[in-house]
Amino acid sequence: MGSQEVSTVDWEGKHVTVAGLGVSGIPAARALHERGAVVTVVNDGDDERARAQAAELEALGITVRLGDGATLPPSTQLVVTAPGWQPDKPLFLAAAEAGVDIWGDVELAWRLRGTNGRKAAPWLAVTGTNGKTTTVRMLASILEAAGLRTAAVGNIGVSLLDAVLGEREYDVLAVELSSYQLHWAPSLRAHSAAVLNLAPDHLDWHGSMEAYAADKGRIYEGNTVACVYNAADPATEDLVREADVEEGCRAIGFTLGTPGPSQLGVVDGILVDRAFVANRQKQAQELAEVSDVNPPAPHNIANALAAAALARAFGVEPAAVRDGLRNFRPDAHRIEHVVDIAEVAYVDDSKATNTHATEASLAAYDSIVWIAGGLAKGATFDELVTGAAKRLRGVVLMGADRALIHEALTRHAPEVPVVDLDRTDTGAMSEAVEQAARLARPGDTVLLAPACASMDMFTNYIKRGEAFADAVRARAEKSA
Ligand code: ADP
Repeated sequence: MGSQEVSTVDWEGKHVTVAGLGVSGIPAARALHERGAVVTVVNDGDDERARAQAAELEALGITVRLGDGATLPPSTQLVVTAPGWQPDKPLFLAAAEAGVDIWGDVELAWRLRGTNGRKAAPWLAVTGTNGKTTTVRMLASILEAAGLRTAAVGNIGVSLLDAVLGEREYDVLAVELSSYQLHWAPSLRAHSAAVLNLAPDHLDWHGSMEAYAADKGRIYEGNTVACVYNAADPATEDLVREADVEEGCRAIGFTLGTPGPSQLGVVDGILVDRAFVANRQKQAQELAEVSDVNPPAPHNIANALAAAALARAFGVEPAAVRDGLRNFRPDAHRIEHVVDIAEVAYVDDSKATNTHATEASLAAYDSIVWIAGGLAKGATFDELVTGAAKRLRGVVLMGADRALIHEALTRHAPEVPVVDLDRTDTGAMSEAVEQAARLARPGDTVLLAPACASMDMFTNYIKRGEAFADAVRARAEKSA
């Protein structure tokens, strides 16, 4: 099926099992029920909230089975699953055995697009271990600057199903896809897609690095115009090579260096396009200045180039790339500058929850007091510490797995002073900021980039970032 075509499934009387109540399950159940399907929702949990949600669906005539997400209802012809459900669940094994297809929320949205009388907008899709949200938001900003009706959707707040079946009509969608979502999206065919980078993450879910990469690589299947890869990360280019794409679809690289033909890159502080120009052997088109990217840290320039490549693949003019990048404001807790105190910058990158993200943010500053620690999720820190050692003024560690980082520092950066905070109460972040301020010198950056998940001490990375910013602001007031 070509990417512009819309599939027509006859839902009338089709027995569909929706796995999981929740942000994707409830709208999926409703949409399928409205189209005449016989829907059963199965859910592991059976708490008060689930019961209230179940009651609402049952009032519509949808069957809900709480407390049993494992058993496949015998009449099932299709399973639609929430993306987070692990592939080795008994429900999926039973479906596979019975020859029943399993679709995720993305597959369902892809199949239902255009079935509500509105135009089926093409998708520009983004995946990668880190930088997805930022890139998709940059892309939406560029598409808007080009006057296109668009939205940033997917694994990003706005559900794809809502975007596809909602009231608004779009010219094009900027879609963030996680590896989980791609795993369950066999027929998705994006107009163009980018894989930003590939580092080990979520391997417990996918089973192996190979399986994780293969799921990410699905994003290129059936692309019509461009498969965008990261020239500095050969694994992303390998995925392009392995993908089965439409005839004429091109591989487009992005690089922080001078671009070759069919690449976007950087020359003398200018983002340039050597892919979507008339004569790419000899010509390059100026798109924007590095200072138009917000913030202009190396990894973020890479995100901007990926977004620009997808926009250019869709035919967007260079001036709109520049304007869209200028209009873009990063989301909170992603290399967010909080305030300067006594010529020291305080930066909140609480969203750096793995070592790959933290490596990028440590690379963005010359002299750093690094605040790190939390739940390591099985990660090791030797490489991260070795790469950053020269730029570390000092380190403040906290959280459950801080000893792992401390040991790596002892091995690879024994001269760097480390403060080990042996407390996990709510006041710990204030003390971390105080200790970091004590270590910092004028011109330094105090950087919260934990390389770990937050749940040992905070509800989530947002709360952790807020605790940091609050502590920094309290300190700024005191010193004012
Ligand atoms: P995602 O949606 O993939 O989690 P975000 O855009 O929310 O990505 O960024 C998450 C974190 O990853 C940021 O806080 C930043 O530290 C880091 N990051 C962003 N872009 C990149 C990149 N291209 N390479 C490496 N790390 C990145």
